[in-house]
Amino acid sequence: MLARVSAALTWLGRQALPLRCLVCEEPGSAGLDLCAACHAALPWNDHACPLCALPLPEGTPARCCGVCLHDPPRQAAAAAAFLYAAPVDQLLRRFKFHHDLAAGRLLSQLMLQRVPGFVIGPLAPVPLHRQRLRTRGYDQALELTRPLARALRQPLWCGLHRDRLTSAQSALDADARRRNLHDAFAITTPPPARLTVVDDVMTTGATLDAAVHALQRVGLPDPAVWVCARVP
Ligand SMILES: [Zn+2]
Ligand SMILES: [Zn+2]
Repeated sequence: MLARVSAALTWLGRQALPLRCLVCEEPGSAGLDLCAACHAALPWNDHACPLCALPLPEGTPARCCGVCLHDPPRQAAAAAAFLYAAPVDQLLRRFKFHHDLAAGRLLSQLMLQRVPGFVIGPLAPVPLHRQRLRTRGYDQALELTRPLARALRQPLWCGLHRDRLTSAQSALDADARRRNLHDAFAITTPPPARLTVVDDVMTTGATLDAAVHALQRVGLPDPAVWVCARVP
């Protein structure tokens, strides 16, 4: 009951607050905390490799990139709504490191504007280790995924767990990231037959690779990967 009252109050609060662009503070538009000009300038990642989500050179056919051709990644498909560039990078940092949940909500709403065709079935957020969750207070991938699952009417699958506390990925190079993440994930319940793993940012892809690998070890052949932003 209390939860329902609190949800209703939050909803009322949102109706009462005018929409405001989280980037430039002009009035928001189209039901978003983003103005039309900032929306028009978003770094969408529309022309990208379907396996690793890296942007492809303009004018080239939309097929898998040279790297994936020679060394295909574990996931069956990958898509990133955006390139990790302004203003999405700032919104992601505010969401991840400064408790700006409004920025997270906006990013989810924007991801829903370009849902990849492979997103059929449950969505699985890449989890934080519980120790990091304690210090941060919330799990950004879960906060991003929850509204996506709700809007797409798909279940949220939370069977992926961080087994080990890994060092912060951002300070490591690609090889070190992979070693750091080896066996970092455990699966606690049998996964559904189709699954899309969701995360905020894909940098080298090592974290998602480790999550996909963990799923494949328990018999899920072809998980897909969907992120908010791809670091080119
Ligand atoms: Zn704006
Ligand atoms: Zn590729």
